[in-house]
Amino acid sequence: MQLSGLEIFKYLPGSQKAAHTNCKECGCPTCMAFAIKLAQKQITFDRCKYMPEELKNLYKKNLKSPQKTIKIDGLKIGGENVMYRHEKKFVNRTVFAVVVDCKSPDFNEKLKRIKNFEINRINEKMKVDLVILKNAGKHPLKNLCDETVYIEEKDFLKLSLKKIIDNSFSKTASELVKIRTKAITERDEKYSDPVYVYLKSSPNKFNLCARASYYLCKYANMLVFEDFDESLFATLMTLRQNIYTDPQKPLQVEPKIYEFNNPDENSLVFMTTNFALTFYAVANELQNLKVPSYLIVTPAGGMSVLTAWSAEKFTAKMVAKTLKKFDILNKVKTREIIIPGLLAPMKKELEKALPEFKIIVGTIEAYSIAEFVKKIT
Ligand code: SF4
Repeated sequence: MQLSGLEIFKYLPGSQKAAHTNCKECGCPTCMAFAIKLAQKQITFDRCKYMPEELKNLYKKNLKSPQKTIKIDGLKIGGENVMYRHEKKFVNRTVFAVVVDCKSPDFNEKLKRIKNFEINRINEKMKVDLVILKNAGKHPLKNLCDETVYIEEKDFLKLSLKKIIDNSFSKTASELVKIRTKAITERDEKYSDPVYVYLKSSPNKFNLCARASYYLCKYANMLVFEDFDESLFATLMTLRQNIYTDPQKPLQVEPKIYEFNNPDENSLVFMTTNFALTFYAVANELQNLKVPSYLIVTPAGGMSVLTAWSAEKFTAKMVAKTLKKFDILNKVKTREIIIPGLLAPMKKELEKALPEFKIIVGTIEAYSIAEFVKKIT
């Protein structure tokens, strides 16, 4: 585990009130500030001349990632540094792989389904990450490649990966926790290989999905499936996208005016916050509407509409300031702004702050926008 600011501070002069305490020679106002910066890798340890050797050695040892990173073409497997995402972040997403047997009668059909499978969520296109080809023989591997990575089974088996065959949920789950703990918390190099769970073919897709979801959360670096099932992969990819976000960075888009279907001065004007999930939900609907429109996205620190409102990141005053900054009055003759349905209680406040505009309360859910637009146009 990487050293925290507090752990580093314990070794510095400041914690013992020794000579040079808070001397500022490192460029930081206090030893504590230096410790925090060092923990966040914003400064190098040689900036403090008074750091004891013991801390230098400990810091260097902890700099090395406790889990190896294995690469297959552009795919990265492992390389994790923490047990829990909130400690820092998870680095490389759990890879989803499917085994395809070139000698199997359903080879072509299975491969075609894998190639055709794709989901789009929060502006991200997701495909099967890896196909492991069994009995590839002289199969032209290069011709198969699209966004999915292909590898022959014989080459895959040579990689430094730890395999767990999923014969029992409890055994697999506890083995995964044990390996991750040994690697990260105890920094035991014997456990530094990334881990994959091999999930055999099963007619019970619900159970397969439940087990795979758990292993995805704790702590499989890769899941290898004998079966390929579109609904299973779509579910797991949605879960994975949520787990592998950086907790220090809210999912947000740039605050600005977005245009859909070539809007002009008579087009509809919608408004929302810069929370990515909300933005893409609304943007997809507006794009598919085939009606020209603008979407004003306000800066709200990546918070959803209600959260931003309750945290005072979406106030009438702020909205008025944003509209002025984006110069919306010169863009449209329309003097109507459609606000999210969840902000209905703000209508009067907004009308007061934006006397030039008529405030229209829109829908609570993005999927109702089409129906709503039909009614008002
Ligand atoms: Fe503390 Fe070292 Fe920075 Fe001086 S140089 S303030 S002792 S961390």
